[in-house]
Amino acid sequence: LTGPFQEALSIINTIEDNGYEAYFVGGCIRDYLLQRPIGDIDITTSAKPEEIQSIFTNVIPVGIEHGTVIVRHNHINYEVTTFRLEGEYSDHRHPDYVEFVDKIDMDLARRDFTINALAMNKHGEIIDLFGGQQDLTDQVIRTVGNGHERFKEDPLRILRAIRFSSQLGFTLADDTITAIRDERHHIQGLAVERITVEITKLFAGKHVDKGLRYLDELELSPYIPVFKDFSSMTSFIQTIKPVFSLAEIICLIHQLQTNIAISDIVKQWKCSNRTRKEALLLNDAINYYKENGIDNLLVYKLLPNYIDAFGRIVSILFISSIEIKQLYQLKEQLPIHTKNELKINGHDILDMFPTVKKGPWIHELLMTLEKLVVIGDIPNEKTMLKEWIKWNPPVQK
Ligand code: ATP
Ligand code: MG
Repeated sequence: LTGPFQEALSIINTIEDNGYEAYFVGGCIRDYLLQRPIGDIDITTSAKPEEIQSIFTNVIPVGIEHGTVIVRHNHINYEVTTFRLEGEYSDHRHPDYVEFVDKIDMDLARRDFTINALAMNKHGEIIDLFGGQQDLTDQVIRTVGNGHERFKEDPLRILRAIRFSSQLGFTLADDTITAIRDERHHIQGLAVERITVEITKLFAGKHVDKGLRYLDELELSPYIPVFKDFSSMTSFIQTIKPVFSLAEIICLIHQLQTNIAISDIVKQWKCSNRTRKEALLLNDAINYYKENGIDNLLVYKLLPNYIDAFGRIVSILFISSIEIKQLYQLKEQLPIHTKNELKINGHDILDMFPTVKKGPWIHELLMTLEKLVVIGDIPNEKTMLKEWIKWNPPVQK
């Protein structure tokens, strides 16, 4: 067993010492066998949530009714879920019921794809009831059991199939494709928050072009908010590269098709206010760039955590891939980085014009100076700034 599994081994051991079964399961096994970075380690067990709570001291009851608790061990959170069956997702968010079962077999059978239905015991032996390892080798995404039924049960699995193809570069099995075509209309009923989670992961995938091509070919867009109005998908696919936030996706869509307003996307996707703000800021920067190219004012206004996002969007929209390193350099070399660094303030200005009434003109003047300093028209020195003000005094109304 390697690093992260070794770390979690004592949880498995403790559960077994108490007379229950426990295995590593799901995405962590898939990523381990693919030699990809392993995300969260999930554990599946025959022990009921209450039994886990009594065995471990550090347990967070996140979803007892679904059989899930979090066990905290050496500052790491592990999701520990009881073997279970699931009913249909008629509220489109949660299964109608879960039923705890004794054997891991049925728990693996409820999972979405063969590559996600793998488990591993403490000795590193793989439990593979549905040919998941073969599908990993063949790079295929295939539903566990009948695709039509599995997609009807929870249509989110359709979008998950697409996002795994984007993350892994895998191909969808023929049966799975047929089932997606037949069941795709069920996507309409999904809670939009679940959809945007998958869309965000889809766009961050290394093979995002592949994912979007499936989205297009399988004609899923008509059932997805925003995408149903987005007719520029084909041009999108040709230049797309991974992006890492919903805000970037929103900005891209609006830039490619300006008749889809950002506020509209935000509403349809029920985005957070923070995502809305990020998307608007990025969009302003892109619009400024379209008018002026890259200059001091652009990088001055671009907050440090937006530089990468901006660079990614520019390289998708305008192919001219700009060097992100160059943006950072330019930003570093700016005469000032915030308006606090300006060598003159409101008091200095008031002192220069003792007879002029205080008012918004002071702030306006400071903003003008800020801009002139940033673009390099005036050096950031008090005497020079005062000199400029003397030649351009405030007009008294
Ligand atoms: P990621 O790297 O994105 O976390 P993951 O495979 O771990 O990928 P999760 O959404 O964390 O995906 O789910 C963990 C596991 O739970 C999956 O591997 C799969 O076995 C199962 N699973 C998750 N969502 C579903 C679903 N909607 N239907 C069936 N099984 C699911
Ligand atoms: Mg996971």
